[in-house]
Amino acid sequence: MKNSKLATTAVRAGINTDEHHGAVIPAIHLSSTYALKGFNDKRQFDYSRTGNPTRATFAQAIADLEGGAVGIVTSTGMSSVHLICQLLTTDDLVVIPHDCYGGSYRLFTHLAKRGLFKLLVVDQNNQEALSNALAQRPKLVLVETPSNPLMRIVDIADVVKQSHDVDALVAVDNTFLSPILQQPLSLGADIVFHSTTKFINGHSDVVGGVLVTKEQSLGEELAWWANCIGITGSAFDSYLALRGLKTLPIRMKQHQENADVVAEFLRKHPAVERVYYPGFKDHSGYEIAKKQQAAFGSMMSFEVKGGVEAVKILFDNLSLFTLAQSLGGVESLISHPSTMTHAGMEITAQIEAGISQSLVRISVGIEDYQDIIADLEQGLNASQK
Ligand code: PLP
Repeated sequence: MKNSKLATTAVRAGINTDEHHGAVIPAIHLSSTYALKGFNDKRQFDYSRTGNPTRATFAQAIADLEGGAVGIVTSTGMSSVHLICQLLTTDDLVVIPHDCYGGSYRLFTHLAKRGLFKLLVVDQNNQEALSNALAQRPKLVLVETPSNPLMRIVDIADVVKQSHDVDALVAVDNTFLSPILQQPLSLGADIVFHSTTKFINGHSDVVGGVLVTKEQSLGEELAWWANCIGITGSAFDSYLALRGLKTLPIRMKQHQENADVVAEFLRKHPAVERVYYPGFKDHSGYEIAKKQQAAFGSMMSFEVKGGVEAVKILFDNLSLFTLAQSLGGVESLISHPSTMTHAGMEITAQIEAGISQSLVRISVGIEDYQDIIADLEQGLNASQK
């Protein structure tokens, strides 16, 4: 639904589209293939790798929420990132942030090592480093904001302007906020992508990705590649993610309410050295986050006093939080970036990105906030004994 408010678009996606039975919720189409009407007379869909009605409904919903022209649903978040790489040739330069998701870092660095393109890993908050990188006229600039796991904020509109001045495409990983809290295309980005595994599906039972382009022609090019290399998402995952999408706006509200209280709690706890949360006025990215985001998100990380030993004791003493990677589900998760989400980064790169052994990341769920805090409190108290 174009031009409706975000919550309406999310809830109404695909509703009332069944002309055969009047099913309110769009049916799931599991068929791998579709009959032609006759010789050389195809219907809209012919083979599910290329196109599938359930996947198309989900793709359109995300494209509408992000305000883009074409949505492409992929098998995982990483396959959305990999899909973008299909735009590159051996002479092209790519600029990625030094503190991006470990899996993205691993993919770009390893493809670059094989000579598929050239790569610069840059702290995008360091204006001199960014200007130097852009002066080399990259083809693609990848942005991830808030960044994983330190919640650094990058000014999307500013990076887009500088990148477009040198004709670079800008792709933004919007996984941490979802289109409900941030819409990079409206800030000028060319591509926005998500791991739908996270907030968009929201129930930790799908691994998936989605990519939306601002322009039709770029979207068609990428959709061609998605079919060509066979990384389109399954109908079942699309069905589940579309189901999850309907409660995304209301989930984000509750995630946010809980996160604000949890961040304040952590900041005051004596076992916590430092909290990384863009909603704090003294966070270096606060003003930009306020400008480009609808709220601050429910991801945060913190350093525990006592190093990795204290982190282990904290984890052993939690009962509500689950020690698991991933994020954005209704349930609260806790992780140790260095040995989990960012294990794909060499230790030197982790140190460069500010990821220490005492750093813990949490994805604040939508349980009652008092239970979340009580759990953290007893875990943190135990960690200091
Ligand atoms: N981008 C971010 C910010 C992520 O956190 C992740 C996964 O954790 C990905 C991309 C990759 O997504 P997936 O695990 O669905 O392949």
